[in-house]
Amino acid sequence: MRPEVLNPLFAPADSLDGVGPKVARPLEKLGLTRVRDVAYHLPDRFVTRRPVENLGHASVGEQIVVPLTVSEHRAARSGRGPYNVMAYDALGNVVSLTYFGKASYTARKQLPVGERRWVAGRLDQYGQMLQIVHPEHVAEDSSGLLGTLNEPVYALSEGFTQPKVAGLVAQALARLPDLPEWIEPSQLASAGWPAWAEALPLAHRGAHQAARDRLAYDELFANSLALMLVRADNRRRRGQALQGDRSLRAKLALPFPLTGAQRRSIDEIAGDLAQGVPMLRLLQGDVGSGKTVVALEAMLIAVEAGAQAALLAPTEILARQHFETLRRMLAPTGVEIALLTGRDKGRARESILMGLQDGSIPIVVGTHAIFQDAVAYRNLGLVVIDEQHRFGVSQRLMLASKGRVTPHTLAMTATPIPRTLTLAQYGEMDVSRLDEMPPGRQAIDTVVIAAERLPEVVERLAAQMEAGAQAYWVCPMVRELETEDIAAAEARYASLKARFGDDIVLVHGQLRPEEKDAAMERFASGRARLLVATTVIEVGVDVPNATLMVIEQAERFGLAQLHQLRGRVGRGDKKSVCVLLRGDALSETGKQRLALMRETQDGFRLAEEDLRLRGGGELLGTRQSGDTPFRIADLDQIQRLLPLAHDDARLLMDRDGGLSGERGAAARILLYLFERDWGVQLLRGG
Ligand code: ADP
Ligand code: MG
Repeated sequence: MRPEVLNPLFAPADSLDGVGPKVARPLEKLGLTRVRDVAYHLPDRFVTRRPVENLGHASVGEQIVVPLTVSEHRAARSGRGPYNVMAYDALGNVVSLTYFGKASYTARKQLPVGERRWVAGRLDQYGQMLQIVHPEHVAEDSSGLLGTLNEPVYALSEGFTQPKVAGLVAQALARLPDLPEWIEPSQLASAGWPAWAEALPLAHRGAHQAARDRLAYDELFANSLALMLVRADNRRRRGQALQGDRSLRAKLALPFPLTGAQRRSIDEIAGDLAQGVPMLRLLQGDVGSGKTVVALEAMLIAVEAGAQAALLAPTEILARQHFETLRRMLAPTGVEIALLTGRDKGRARESILMGLQDGSIPIVVGTHAIFQDAVAYRNLGLVVIDEQHRFGVSQRLMLASKGRVTPHTLAMTATPIPRTLTLAQYGEMDVSRLDEMPPGRQAIDTVVIAAERLPEVVERLAAQMEAGAQAYWVCPMVRELETEDIAAAEARYASLKARFGDDIVLVHGQLRPEEKDAAMERFASGRARLLVATTVIEVGVDVPNATLMVIEQAERFGLAQLHQLRGRVGRGDKKSVCVLLRGDALSETGKQRLALMRETQDGFRLAEEDLRLRGGGELLGTRQSGDTPFRIADLDQIQRLLPLAHDDARLLMDRDGGLSGERGAAARILLYLFERDWGVQLLRGG
């Protein structure tokens, strides 16, 4: 049970004033469903606006405060389109204050014709016209504005404005309870960090490094501690020693010799399986490194030893693909394999469930459906989780450990993450690395091309498609709003469709799963030749005929992400090309990063370099959702603080009595605060 002291923080976000049905949605989009989330919605950066006397003193793109006189209101002509308020500065320069949607109501009130107002916002240019879109502030005199020139900039979603978010944050901060200190006192003192209840407001108010570090440390510490609790729990569980006799593996007729790395990994896994303690092992191997065969060998060991094995895939498509591959490879062994997904209904499903229950089906592949309550196994000995990337491994491990005897677990990931991050994501799991590619892989040619040359790229694409190739086109990331990413993808899709007709499909995050599957299926089967996507291209999808990858605004992606995307091509025996389109305002680091992409295809090296290049960089705004399991800690903080947090957690576990004792009680609150409470629950259950 969550400690009561945290209740105010876990109250729903709509308990804050001014959160009606209209605001609830944008809040939800940002993942801010509870007061806690709002309090932790830290600014991406802070903006300093420069007061200028007139627009001649400002440059396009700059954040300014300027006195303007309103000359005219121009309502949108056809219902849609922006609402423009025309104004001019002291020199007569004209600027359009542009509002979309309902925001125009505010404009009508705040900007009466003929009056002078101080307007704060970012100066843009639209065609020949100077423009400020959705001015941040409009005031009758300058005093208030000039006094608050350093303002937080929050991530927004549609229907939100900066002041609105700031207002909600202020309310959330007013509800912070008094919590006991969980950080080791000496650590707190030597780092000079503020207490938790001070750190949060400080982090919203300015670029306060100590406050942000403290908050990041909290998160890292909670994570380390929870993973240690999982590990400790696992060590106490009873597993089933599985010793294979090679009878089935000997019948596998693999068309290739295993790589050294594959053999080593299989040996490590076999060693774990033979123990009475359940295995908790991560198999890390770049895209194409041959994880499937390793999983297959592991599953066959389990079957040889009289147990069953299950392979969990993150999506329906991947489950199907695994099923087909494994079925083919298993044919000479005579071992039966079944596919179970949420879609299977009726008789077919019943018969699979029966087979799992009576043990006549030794291997099953599927989505999370394979762990639903209705699914009972006669003797599940091994669970392979092809999580490919992304997190929540630990939670899924728990899913796997429901039974009387805990099955062995092998998690597979295609994300070559640096060692520090491995620790963050998987704690003290044992790791096997496939750091050697199967021989004979074609290198992928990577080219960096300026975005202006996009038409040439389209023509080259056309030629390739005519010759029978398939291609991926990854659309630009707009970053601030997901809807804008989708708008960009739809626009690109429309323009490419005009060129390529029905040969093309679009996939993005807001499609329903069936729509997404259908589009992917059309592409995988070759009926569509071009797949246009936001970054959601399913990792792991294997279309060997795809030989061209185009990535727009490549500089906006992390290297690891680019690498993942690039890994979609180069899977067949034909030469593949990856085109990285870059914008013109490329930073020095940006250049280095893209150059690195050209230079190497070694995922581990790219991951390390990415961390190095991004890590020390900007103070704020380096958080990238999806890269790490953290919402607060950025890459730099992970590198600096994770080792400390990890040691601190270790000490608490080994020396200071874990969650008992005074600091332990505080740490327990922390685990709940960061929703790593599965760690606590394990401890109690065990
Ligand atoms: P991953 O899941 O790690 O991305 P896969 O298991 O899908 O990679 O393997 C990629 C391809 O490499 C498959 O076509 C597989 O048959 C092939 N492969 C795997 N191991 C070897 C090997 N030792 N030698 C040659 N080809 C291999
Ligand atoms: Mg795979």
